Amino acid sequence: MQGQTRRVAIVTGAARGIGAATARHLASQGHAVAVLDLDLEACDVVCEEIVAAGGEAVAISADVADEAAVDAAIVTVVETFGAPTILVNNAGITRDNLLFKMTADDWDSVMRVHLRGAFLMTQAVQKHMVSERYGRIVNLSSTSARGNRGQANYAAAKAGIQGFTKTIAIELGPFGVTANAVAPGFVQTEMTEATAARLGMSFTDFTAAAVAKIPVGRGGTPEDIAALVGYLVSESAGYVSGQIIYADGARRG
Ligand code: NAP
Repeated sequence: MQGQTRRVAIVTGAARGIGAATARHLASQGHAVAVLDLDLEACDVVCEEIVAAGGEAVAISADVADEAAVDAAIVTVVETFGAPTILVNNAGITRDNLLFKMTADDWDSVMRVHLRGAFLMTQAVQKHMVSERYGRIVNLSSTSARGNRGQANYAAAKAGIQGFTKTIAIELGPFGVTANAVAPGFVQTEMTEATAARLGMSFTDFTAAAVAKIPVGRGGTPEDIAALVGYLVSESAGYVSGQIIYADGARRG
């Protein structure tokens, strides 16, 4: 424990990428972490790493857009660790295509995971935060919220996350709950590897093209984003709420 009260945290989409790095980071801060994702075995791997490092974690399989699964997941968290007071809505998918080729299913799938998922998770967890008079919510947005070719669905969802975040910050603030969004630029994960593959590029070439536009001279890592989330969920971040914080190495264009 590094000067912080042990809290119960839930990180969605935590089996890999930014979510896994965030789960490891929060556990290293002394929090008990529910590692929630679709694939239970992949969650188990992250939990084993956390426990081996001396932390507390439980693996939970749930689809964040399935109301019954979300409710069951929260019951498991409460029974295992107690009331959750940290929530990181990180689960996400892409179904990229130019608008004229995008299907309604591509649109609905992305809205379902990012927006319905964040809504259901937040609604289920906020009642515990309100009764504890303490909570920290961080939602993953993206620089794509400003518009990105081939991502009309994803950009709309990530812009929607920003409005959702600002609204829950207003509604839940009086109960000691903060809500912020983190909007990463290019981060090296399986999601961006899939983007490179879709564009017919090697990940090395795709990364080099991205880095050429990033003033800090490198791509983001999952740990970069986890560290920012770690600050926003800390007790000392209590006056920071309703904010959208971009982490993109100052990339423009
Ligand atoms: P990732 O490597 O693809 O990991 C996302 C995780 O979410 C996967 O394990 C995925 O499971 C899980 N997931 C998908 N749908 C789910 C659902 N319905 N319920 C529960 N879990 C679900 O992605 P990432 O790059 O770490 O991105 C994490 C978040 O950051 C996402 O919200 C993403 O949009 C955002 N972001 C990423 C970047 C970037 O450059 N990587 C930039 C800006 C924002 P499956 O593998 O089983 O589908």
